[in-house]
Amino acid sequence: MMDRRDFLRMGAGAALGLTGTAQSTEPTPRIRRLVRLGRTELHISDISFGSSSSSDPRLVHHALERGINYFDTAESYRWGNSEEAIGEALRGRRDQVMIASKSKAGARDTRAEMMRALEGSLRRLRTDYVDVYFNHAVNDVRRMRNQEWWEFTELARRQGKIRFRGMSGHGSRLVECLDYAIDQDLVDVILVAYNFAQDPDFYDRLRHSFHFVDLQPGLPRVLEKAKDKDVGVLAMKTLMGARLNDMRPYERPGATFAQAAFRWALASPHVDGVLISMTGKAEIDEYVGGSGEPQVSREDLYLLGVYAQLQAAKYCQHGCGVCESSCPEDVPIAEVLRTRMYEVDYRDHVLARADYANLGAGAAACLSCRHQACLGACTQIGVIRSGQQVVPVIHFVHAGAQHLGDGHGLRAAGLANATAMLAILGRLKLGVDAHQIQILATDLWLP
Ligand code: SF4
Ligand code: SF4
Repeated sequence: MMDRRDFLRMGAGAALGLTGTAQSTEPTPRIRRLVRLGRTELHISDISFGSSSSSDPRLVHHALERGINYFDTAESYRWGNSEEAIGEALRGRRDQVMIASKSKAGARDTRAEMMRALEGSLRRLRTDYVDVYFNHAVNDVRRMRNQEWWEFTELARRQGKIRFRGMSGHGSRLVECLDYAIDQDLVDVILVAYNFAQDPDFYDRLRHSFHFVDLQPGLPRVLEKAKDKDVGVLAMKTLMGARLNDMRPYERPGATFAQAAFRWALASPHVDGVLISMTGKAEIDEYVGGSGEPQVSREDLYLLGVYAQLQAAKYCQHGCGVCESSCPEDVPIAEVLRTRMYEVDYRDHVLARADYANLGAGAAACLSCRHQACLGACTQIGVIRSGQQVVPVIHFVHAGAQHLGDGHGLRAAGLANATAMLAILGRLKLGVDAHQIQILATDLWLP
């Protein structure tokens, strides 16, 4: 049996007899397969353009030249600049492409507010309609229960502003939200975080190296239900953190980790297509190279296995949320760790800050937490037999609060410090009241 050290030490050459680097000398890559997106009957590129980390029309052009025909954006990406870039690049070519956008319709939002959000997106996209319009990042079933969302989408459909409706999500209550949306027939398309490391089959095939604990058993079931109802299924976050540079020593031309991860997702009977954030022309070419018949080779499996070995102990699985009940301060640990992933793994500070800001207090409580109840609460999958490594939750939430918090963390630290100062001043009987101390402490700790 190979242990972790042997597995990694062997490297690609020893394990598979491969040589060379990842610089491709192959012909210009192009999309080689269109997939049917469920009942929408849209036929989209199997690997499609995600824009959460870019707002450059030249990238959109490049993707179009490579055969990508489905462009996904959201009103929140780059504060609308992502929609602007897609609108500018696709001007005059609207009939050649499909466009999807999203907004976060809340549990109490009215249809008028939702319509304003949609019309803002249409303006920035310079189009009269979007092909799919998603309720974005849903992790609270009340957002889908809101009758206004249903009525808004019906009206927008009748007015020709949207063709199909969808729901996207990657949170710990994703399965509950999907169950509701599919059962109530509220969606034509779903966009969900789904990668090889969430697929029980992946670990079945690597049993010699991994011990598997299924943290999201409901996801394959709900995706199967979506397929039964002919709801289109798009997978995102397929690269499990996308630490592509870590994998370069193991790759060769035409056989990269990213391509293997796409093939894995596309080979799943639950998935129609893959969306991936595209931030450079060379990256687009590499990604498009994964298009085609989704057959997972032995070499693909090797690359996925190496990646999982390298990253499992640092990667918080989307939709897991198992450790969150350990925190008495209700810190949304998995959400904070997702924003940390944007910062550290994607190196996308803008996206990380924007998403962290949406978490309210975020991980502010962590900076003054004494009990550290989340210590050891991660039961991460992919636990490697030899090491039993798990995600170091405390370290990661602290880092999130320190680097992404906009005064939240400092404010919490300031107030905690105020309490300590109050106790000291109380003992010294200086007669300063708590409110004054809090103001003083906050001024001292906030920049
Ligand atoms: S450090 Fe404390 S506040 Fe932060 S997640 Fe852990 S238990 Fe919760
Ligand atoms: S840190 Fe571990 S237990 Fe917590 S949500 Fe992430 S993978 Fe799950």
